[in-house]
Amino acid sequence: MKLLEERIRKDGVILDGGNVLKVDAFLNHQMDVALFGAMADEWKRLFADEKITKILTIEASGIGMACIAAERFGVPVIFAKKSKTRNLSGEFYTTKVESFTHGTVNDVIVSKRFLGPEDRVLIIDDFLANGAALEGLIDLVHQAGATVAGAGIAIEKAFQPGGGRIRAAGVRVESLARIASMTEDGITFC
Ligand code: 5GP
Repeated sequence: MKLLEERIRKDGVILDGGNVLKVDAFLNHQMDVALFGAMADEWKRLFADEKITKILTIEASGIGMACIAAERFGVPVIFAKKSKTRNLSGEFYTTKVESFTHGTVNDVIVSKRFLGPEDRVLIIDDFLANGAALEGLIDLVHQAGATVAGAGIAIEKAFQPGGGRIRAAGVRVESLARIASMTEDGITFC
């Protein structure tokens, strides 16, 4: 998606020798809601025939864009919560997700009240890197007996392995900007 690629070139900051892209000026700290609207329109176009019943994301940075997408699809949005409670009763689906940015492992939960076998779920997230966040969300959908209709990702770092592995597992992944390579001198999109 040209608009997102141009914005990444203009306001993205490349860190950690080309491993991390900082997009806090428009995506995950200060948020450009008009840009989110254009992204949501694109996901709606791509997944128009999928009969989506729920949008699922993970806290925190996916929530804003997932809300705008949910409005476009006319369905509820759920964000999986990072739980600090150890002894969870049987009322949650739970999985573990290693954080790309912090290196820590979080228990991530969704209430069983909000996902079930009748659901066709579109997963939305801001980044796809090693794939841990997306695989955790896919696991939660499968635990519910629901269907993963696909994943809408804002920015995929295609030089990291998550996207390849998850597509090979049969999940439709639509990333609006796919970065082929990144150095502190610049970005190449796929
Ligand atoms: P993964 O689980 O695919 O390795 O990483 C996905 C999660 O890590 C995303 O939800 C995002 O919050 C974070 N993340 C991964 N790579 C980047 C990056 O380059 N920049 C930022 N800001 N967040 C990232």
